[in-house]
Amino acid sequence: MEKLIIIGSGPAGYTAAIYAARAQLNPLVIAGPALGGQAALSSEIGNYPGFPEDILGADLAHLMHTQARRFGARFEMDIVTAVDLSQRPFKVTTYGDEYQALALIVASGASPRKLGVPGETELSGSGVSYCATCDGFFFMDKEIVMVGGGDAAVEEALFLTRFASKVTIIHRRDQLRAEPLLQKRAFQNEKIAFIWNTVVTEIAGPEQATGVKLRNVKTGEESLLPAEGVFVAVGYLPNTDFLGGQLALSDTGYVLADEHGHTSVEGVWAAGDVCDWIYRQITTSVGSGCRAAIQVEQYIARIEDRVYPGETEAPAKPAPKKRGGRRKPASQPPPTEV
Ligand code: NAP
Repeated sequence: MEKLIIIGSGPAGYTAAIYAARAQLNPLVIAGPALGGQAALSSEIGNYPGFPEDILGADLAHLMHTQARRFGARFEMDIVTAVDLSQRPFKVTTYGDEYQALALIVASGASPRKLGVPGETELSGSGVSYCATCDGFFFMDKEIVMVGGGDAAVEEALFLTRFASKVTIIHRRDQLRAEPLLQKRAFQNEKIAFIWNTVVTEIAGPEQATGVKLRNVKTGEESLLPAEGVFVAVGYLPNTDFLGGQLALSDTGYVLADEHGHTSVEGVWAAGDVCDWIYRQITTSVGSGCRAAIQVEQYIARIEDRVYPGETEAPAKPAPKKRGGRRKPASQPPPTEV
């Protein structure tokens, strides 16, 4: 029986783990498909406070991981496939195991949105990629395209100029959505070209990506642009399939949570990109992970029989339960290696 299971290991999950571990909840983090989540795949992060120089997403994730483990958070490299929120304690099923927990923090993040055009799925991994930091190296001196106009598309296009001879950004409008600083860098970069008001209608193969079929949304004109690599950065979709419809979701599939992270089921909190369709920043994810963990601590304190190490029975007077109330110190359990 776990007090708290945190589903996901992005910045929200890590922060929840740090706070929950320091509150001696001995949290178990079920990491998901990739330790560190989307943030770990970011090329360079320049807007996370405390790092005056850009930091690699993977390095930031590693630091967060190390910090969480230092306080005793445990990590399982597994993926949650289902939860049962109809019973208490909650049941959490993964590929490898089954767990019970008094409280859950859903921090399962979001996955790259697909274009949904012919050739995309077939050529995924054969020239089509959703991660510049993972795959950029394979496109040394090649001409590639980047589809999208947001922060991710522009940031990754800039990163890809380290390898590719040319990066063409294809955007469906005539204006980028990316922040002004990224835009400025992209416009000044000689290796980056732009095709405006244009969508990709097909990725040409057959064995490897050889180009993209394009349609100008203003004129309807169609064309074929040769490219050996096709990177797609057109936003994200929240990872909620494993919830099986047991938490209330927004129209667009995000978990509905209030300002404290409470979801529609008592004892279940949400944090990070899985419930944030507005900000989706590492900094905001960190804040929501912190909030959820503080809420869980108070929740566990309310439902738990507080018998501290060295005591044989619960205190005669109920332990203080309000926020900020001091608890007797309990010895920290040693971190469990996984
Ligand atoms: P985003 O901001 O939602 O941008 C998605 C882009 O893809 C938009 O330009 C959108 O076009 C385009 N798009 C969406 N669906 C499309 C389709 N089917 N076909 C063609 N184009 C399509 O997503 P993001 O860039 O992944 O960023 C997600 C969040 O992470 C944002 O909040 C962003 O600020 C944050 N982020 C921050 C940084 C950073 O701070 N350095 C880096 C990466 C991400 P329209 O513009 O026409 O809608």
